[in-house]
Amino acid sequence: MDLIGIIDKLKDTRDLTNEEWEALLDTEDEEALSYLSSCARQVREKIYGKAVYIRGLIEFTNYCKNGCYYCGINCKNTNAERYRLSDEQILACVREGYELGFRTFVLQGGEDPYYTDDKIVSLVRAIKQMHPDCAVTLSIGEKSEESYRAFFEAGADRYLLRHETASPDHYRKLHPENLSWENRMNCLKTLRGIGYQVGCGMMVGSPYQTTEDIISDLRFIKEFHPDMCGIGPFIPHKDTIFKDEPAGTLEMTLKLLSIIRLLVPDVLLPATTALGTIDPMGREKGMQYGANVVMPNLSPVMVRGKYALYDGKICLDSESAECIKCLSARVASVGYEIVVDRGDHKNA
Ligand code: SAH
Repeated sequence: MDLIGIIDKLKDTRDLTNEEWEALLDTEDEEALSYLSSCARQVREKIYGKAVYIRGLIEFTNYCKNGCYYCGINCKNTNAERYRLSDEQILACVREGYELGFRTFVLQGGEDPYYTDDKIVSLVRAIKQMHPDCAVTLSIGEKSEESYRAFFEAGADRYLLRHETASPDHYRKLHPENLSWENRMNCLKTLRGIGYQVGCGMMVGSPYQTTEDIISDLRFIKEFHPDMCGIGPFIPHKDTIFKDEPAGTLEMTLKLLSIIRLLVPDVLLPATTALGTIDPMGREKGMQYGANVVMPNLSPVMVRGKYALYDGKICLDSESAECIKCLSARVASVGYEIVVDRGDHKNA
C-alpha cells in the first residue's frame, strides 16, 4: 500500500499493521506528511472547530523525590535551585490567570513530599471556591488511589500523568530501579476509574526509543483513549546523564501529533512548550498538525527558570499577560482562535 493509502486506512480504521506503521513513521515524503496533517486538521475542526483551549500552567514546586534520568529537576541534580510556591503565591497566579481569560489551571510539580494530601486538598478547594467555573488539573505524579480520590473529592477535575513509554524495557532505560512501569500504568487506570479526565503521553525521541516503542505507544494511546495526550520532543538537560543525547525532532513530533489526532479524534492535544523550544514556530506548526490546546506558563517569572526539566525553555521572562498576547497572535496566525472556556473533552 502507498503512503496515502496507509493514511486513509489509519483515518478510517485507526489500525495499521507493523509494516504500515513503520512505513508511516519512517517517511519524510512531503506529500504524505501534508496529507496526514490535512486529515488531522479536518478531524480536529469537525469536533472542536477553530477553538484553541488554554491551560494556565502553575509550576508550584521543583522539589522531587524521583530520579528520572531525563529530567533536570531529578533528585540527584544538586545544581538545581529548589523552590516552592506558597498557597498565596499560587492563588495569586490563579487570580491573575482568571483575569486573563484562563478557565483551567494546571498545578504541576515534582513529587514533593512537602505537599501532603491535606495541603493539595486545601489548595484545590481554595481554587474551586474562588472560581467554581474553572477546571483544576493536577500533574503531580504517582500517588495512591486514596490520595487521588481525596483530590478528586476536593474538586480536581483532570489529571495529567504521561505514561512516558508503553514499553517496559524502554521504561527501565529511562528510570531508576525504584520506579516501575506497572505502577505508572496502574495509576492511569486508577485515575480513570475515579472519574478524572485523564491525560497520558510521552516524549518524542527520548534516549533508546525505537520505532517499535513508538508503535507500542500509539497502540496504547488508541486503546486507553485518553481525554488528553501530552507529547513533546525530549530535550537534553545539562545536569543529567542524557546531557549529550540528541533532542527529539520537530518532524517526528508533528507527525505523531497528527497520528494521535487520527487515532483518538476527540483527544485534547497540546502544542507543548518543548515543541516551541526546539523550533521558534513549533507551537504554530503543532496546531497545523492537529493540536488544539496550548499551556502557557502562569508561574511567577522569578521561578520560571528554576523549573528546568530541559535546557533552553522558552518564555522565561515574559509576564503572563505578555505571554497570552503573544500566544493569541501566534494562534491567529495559523487561522485558529484562543477561547475563554474550560475546554472540557468532547465525546465525538
Ligand atoms: N512529576 C510529574 C510531572 C512531570 S514533568 C509527573 O511525574 O508526572 C512533566 C513531563 O515533562 C514529564 O512527564 C516528561 O514527559 C516531561 N519531561 C521531563 N524531562 C524532560 C526533558 N528532558 N525533555 C522533554 N520533556 C521532559
